[in-house]
Amino acid sequence: MTEVVSQQEMRDAFAMFYGMAMSLKDLAPPPEQLSDQERVSRAKAVYLKALDNGFATQLDACVHCGACAQACQYYIGTEDPKYTPIHKLDLMKRVYQRELSPLSWLLKPFVRDVTVEDLHEERHLAFEACTMCGRCNMVCPAGINIADMVAVNRAALAQAGLMPDELRFMVAEQTAEGTIFGADKDLFLFRIGVLEEKLGFKIPIDKEKADVMLVTSGLDIHLFSDATGGAVETLQHMGVDYTLLSDAYEGANFGALGGDDALKKKLTKKLTEAAIRIGAKTVIVPECGHSFPALRWGAAESVGHEVPFDVSTVSEYFGKAVMEGRLKLQAKDHPGIVALHDPCKVGRWGGVFDEPRAILKACGYNVKETESSRELNFCCGGGAGNFLIQEADQLKRVGYRIKMGEIEATGAEKLMVSCGSCRMNFEVGKVKAGDSMPVESLAAVIAAHLPANEGAKQ
Ligand code: SF4
Ligand code: SF4
Repeated sequence: MTEVVSQQEMRDAFAMFYGMAMSLKDLAPPPEQLSDQERVSRAKAVYLKALDNGFATQLDACVHCGACAQACQYYIGTEDPKYTPIHKLDLMKRVYQRELSPLSWLLKPFVRDVTVEDLHEERHLAFEACTMCGRCNMVCPAGINIADMVAVNRAALAQAGLMPDELRFMVAEQTAEGTIFGADKDLFLFRIGVLEEKLGFKIPIDKEKADVMLVTSGLDIHLFSDATGGAVETLQHMGVDYTLLSDAYEGANFGALGGDDALKKKLTKKLTEAAIRIGAKTVIVPECGHSFPALRWGAAESVGHEVPFDVSTVSEYFGKAVMEGRLKLQAKDHPGIVALHDPCKVGRWGGVFDEPRAILKACGYNVKETESSRELNFCCGGGAGNFLIQEADQLKRVGYRIKMGEIEATGAEKLMVSCGSCRMNFEVGKVKAGDSMPVESLAAVIAAHLPANEGAKQ
């Protein structure tokens, strides 16, 4: 395997990228000028539509057992009751009680109407104090999908013009350009050229037909090209008929993270139509947690019909190939322990657990599970776009400390991750806390264990 990015290159890129991320707040376009009343009525319209679509029954189901509090990184790390997951839905519940409940005629005089101050408080809870990780969902005996309802909160706040500045910048950029962090087509093609030089083969771009469409992200283009390099090197090794597309390479979807449903659908549709155009049977999304659910569960809806392709994450695609014997990796002697982080959207939401473990086993690693793992794994602390929000900094560190504490307790000498946002949050957390745990991309790890190529194998 070729070293796609040296440690020094990675450190330089990280410093540059971190500086860019920290300037997003100042670069954000001015927020929409709305009166307090307009903000409240826009937010309430979003709540009422969601409540009509089935969320109302879930709000009524809570038995106030408190189990969700003990599942949430932010409650556990602060013991502040306002971070109890179900509390994050109080505003929506008030709208329900006043406007839709069968007892609304009785409750209305006793339940406060929504104010703009409530919306500001909810902004902190929905954007800065929740990564929509879904861990609370797993323990709720009433089966309440708190994370999805926090997504409704984000949509309500976006409509009310109260999206955090950083996400507003990202949404504006992706609305205008389709991609993020200035990773336009020229930069994408430039980075592909750099990868080609390092890898020593031509990477297929813009094939008219291909079985597999590989997607990358602005984060990987700038910072984690080892992940893209690992994926293309492994696909090449396997002899897969694949391509990247210069008009559909961005997997990130800040519509999904910012609560902008129209943008979320538009971005998903773009990837979906491109995959259909080239006859792809599989779309491999990058090591990017949220790009996976956005496409896997949004593709058919975005075009209004079933789609003729599967959506896989990098670790899922290659892990299945290992499990089915289609991809042989060369086990090396790794005497120490490694830990694996299950990204929330890939693991808990997508059920991808066995595949990354199969990869690491085939590479010869001794993987020790963290105290929480698989379905109940703790979030890295920076998911759902939080890793970019400066005002979430303190809470991000709370989440980071919990997860990194578990990782360190395994005695691991390195951490394997298959999500760029998790990786970014771990890297920033390490710098701020003075920790030193090396963090590696699973895609790069796979490529580092490819046997000498004896010809294309599929
Ligand atoms: S989704 Fe995660 S971060 Fe949000 S309330 Fe639930 S456990 Fe906490
Ligand atoms: S775990 Fe479920 S039922 Fe219990 S308090 Fe939380 S939301 Fe309510």
